[in-house]
Amino acid sequence: MVTQSAASTSHPSELAQPINKTAHEFDKTTLDALLARRFFFAPAFEIYGGVAGLYDYGPTGSALQANVLNEWRKHYIIEEDMLELDTTIMTLSEVLKTSGHVDKFADWMVKDVQTGEIFRADHLVEAVIEARLKGDKEARGVKDEPVVEEDEKKKKKKKNVKSVAIKLEDGVVAEYESLLAQIDNYTGPELGELVRKHNIRNPATGNELSEPVEFNLMFESNIGPTGQIKGYLRPETAQGHFVNFARLLEFNNGKVPFASAQIGRSFRNEIAPRQGLLRVREFTMAEIEHYVDPLDKRHARFNEVKDVTLTLLPKDVQSEGRTETTQMTVGDAVAKKIVDNETLGYFLGRTQLFLEKIGIDPSRMRCRQHMANEMAHYAADCWDFEIQSSYGWIECVGCADRSAYDLTVHSVRTKQPLRVQQKLDEPRKVEKLDVQFDAKKFGMTFKKDATMIKETLLGLEKDKLQCIKDELASGTSSVKCADGKSYDITSDLVKIEPITVTEYMREFTPNVIEPSFGIGRILYSLLEHSYWAREQDKARGVLSLPSVVAPIKCLIVTISQDAELRAKIHEISRKMRRIGIASRVDDSSASIGKKYARNDELGTPFGCTVDFATIQKGTITLRERDSTNQLIGQVDDVIDVVDQLVKGTIDWSGASSRLESYSGVQDVEE
Ligand code: AMP
Repeated sequence: MVTQSAASTSHPSELAQPINKTAHEFDKTTLDALLARRFFFAPAFEIYGGVAGLYDYGPTGSALQANVLNEWRKHYIIEEDMLELDTTIMTLSEVLKTSGHVDKFADWMVKDVQTGEIFRADHLVEAVIEARLKGDKEARGVKDEPVVEEDEKKKKKKKNVKSVAIKLEDGVVAEYESLLAQIDNYTGPELGELVRKHNIRNPATGNELSEPVEFNLMFESNIGPTGQIKGYLRPETAQGHFVNFARLLEFNNGKVPFASAQIGRSFRNEIAPRQGLLRVREFTMAEIEHYVDPLDKRHARFNEVKDVTLTLLPKDVQSEGRTETTQMTVGDAVAKKIVDNETLGYFLGRTQLFLEKIGIDPSRMRCRQHMANEMAHYAADCWDFEIQSSYGWIECVGCADRSAYDLTVHSVRTKQPLRVQQKLDEPRKVEKLDVQFDAKKFGMTFKKDATMIKETLLGLEKDKLQCIKDELASGTSSVKCADGKSYDITSDLVKIEPITVTEYMREFTPNVIEPSFGIGRILYSLLEHSYWAREQDKARGVLSLPSVVAPIKCLIVTISQDAELRAKIHEISRKMRRIGIASRVDDSSASIGKKYARNDELGTPFGCTVDFATIQKGTITLRERDSTNQLIGQVDDVIDVVDQLVKGTIDWSGASSRLESYSGVQDVEE
C-alpha cells in the first residue's frame, strides 16, 4: 500500500483558512501579462505593428465574450420577451444624416503644425492645464492628495504630460481650476482660444498647434461601384431599430410598450484611442430600445426590481462639484423623482442585477446621472452605469430616455407614420386646440423645414399649444423642433382655435428608453475585478470569473502520465462535453501544480483530477479554484455535481454536502 498525495496546492490544514484576495495590491502589469499570455485579447495586426484602437480576441476572450453575451440574451431578450434584430452595419448616409450623426457626431482635434501629430483638443488642453496645476503644487510644496475616486472623465483624457515645478500666480490657478471644471462645455473655436491664450503646445515637441478642426467619428464608405450611394459603418446599433419600427410595431400587434434588442458591432474612428479595450475603434454593443407611451412610463414588472439597491450619483450633487454617492432602492429613487420614471428605473435595476450576475464588483459600480449640459437636447433623463477600474470610473452602460426624437425625425424625413394608434375603450369628447395652417404662406416661409415644423406643432400637448396661442395673440411665438432649432411663427401662418371633437382613437409617437451596453468595456472591467494573486505567491494570479461566464468550466487532469489515467481523463471530458460542460483536458507533462496555476489564470472555476484511486475505486477529486478546497466522489457523481455547479443550481457548500471532503491524501493498493 502506498500513500498517494494529491496535487492539491492547499495543505489540509489550510483548507479552513479564509481566502485573502487582497493580500497584494492590484498590479496592472501582471494582469496585462496574464491576459496576453492566456490570449484573452491582443492588438490586431500585431505582426504588422498593430493599429491603435483595434483588438482581436483570442480563444479565452472570445469564449468569455460569448458567455457574457449569452447571459445578456437570457437576462434581457428571453426573460423580457424582447424582439431581437440583426440589422446591417453598413448604413445609408441619409439615415445618419436624419439622426444627426453626420452633422454632430464629432470631436475637435488639433495638429502639431510641424510633425502633424494629432490630439483630441479637449483632452490635450485638460492634460496640459492639469500638469501645470500639479507643477504649481510641487513648487508650493503641497503634496498631491491620493486620488481615491478619480472621475472617469478626468482620468480618461489624461495624456502623459510631465509636470514641472513652477509656481503660478493665485489668479492663474483659479482661472485654470475654473477652466478644468468646464472642460466638457467648450466649443471647438473656444478650445482654439484656450490653446492660444494659455500657450498650449505639443508637450513632446514644444511645437505650436493648429486651430481645432471638427472630426466626424464615423467611418465613411461607398455602397456599390458607382460611388453615388454614400454609407457609413454604424456608430451605434440604435438606428437599425428605429428604421424598422413600423414592422416591429406590427409584429407586436400594434401595441406598446415593447422592446427591440440587438447585439452587434459598431465603429467609431476615435481620434487617439489609448485605453486598451475601453476606447476602441470597433466594438460590440448590445442595445435595447424600449418603446413606451409618453403619457404612461410605468413598467408592468417594476415591483420585481423596486428593492434593488443602486449607488447613485445624481446631477445636482455633481453640479455642486461633489462626487459622493447615495445608496438607494430603485423604488425610492423613482418615488423621489431622482430617476425620471418607472421604466428608466426598471432598466437601472435590471442592469445592476445583470452586472452583478456576471461578476462585476457592486462596490465598484455606480449610476451617474448626466448633467443638463451633457445630455442630448432631446433626452429627458440619462444615467450611465460607470464601473471603476485602474482607468478610473468608466461609462460602460448608458441608460437614456431618448424621448420621441429618433422616431419623429425619421418619420418626418421619410413621411412614414412611425406612430402608435390606440383604440379607445369608449369614444370620448375632447376639448382640443385645432391647428390650422395657411399652407401656401407656411410652405413659402419655411420651405424644406415646413413639414417638420407642422408635425411638431400637430404633436404638441394642449398646454404647450395654449402657450403658443397666447403668444401668437400678441405677436410671434417659436416652436422648438426635433433638429434642435427654434422656428418663429406668426398668426398669419398658423391659427389655433378651441374645438370639441369625439375621439375613437388615440395616436402618438412612442418615447424610447435605451439601455446601451459596451461589451468590451464590461469585459475588461470584469477581468480587473476578477483578478487577484495568491497570498503566498504574488506571481500566482487568479481570475475569479463566475462559472456562468468563465471561458472553460472544468479542467481535467491526471496525476501522472500513466496511459490508463490519460485514457480516463479523455473519457471524463467526453462525458462532460456530452452534457454541455465546456471542459478542457490538460495532459501535458507539466507538474500538477503548474496545471492548476494555468487553470487559475484562465479563470476555470473547477478542476477534476484523475489518480490511481480512479482506476481502483472509481473516484475523482474536484477542486474549487478560489479556495483550492477539494472534494472526492465517484466519477458520475462528480460530473453531476459539476453540471449543477455550472448551471448554478448548487454552490460549493451544496457540492460539499453531496461529495466527501478530500484531505489530499488517500490510500491505494500498490
Ligand atoms: P454612447 O452611445 O456613446 O453612449 O455609447 C454607448 C456605450 O458604448 C458606452 O456606454 C460604452 O460602453 C460603449 N462605447 C462607446 N464608445 C466606445 C469606444 N470607443 N470603445 C469602446 N466602447 C465604447
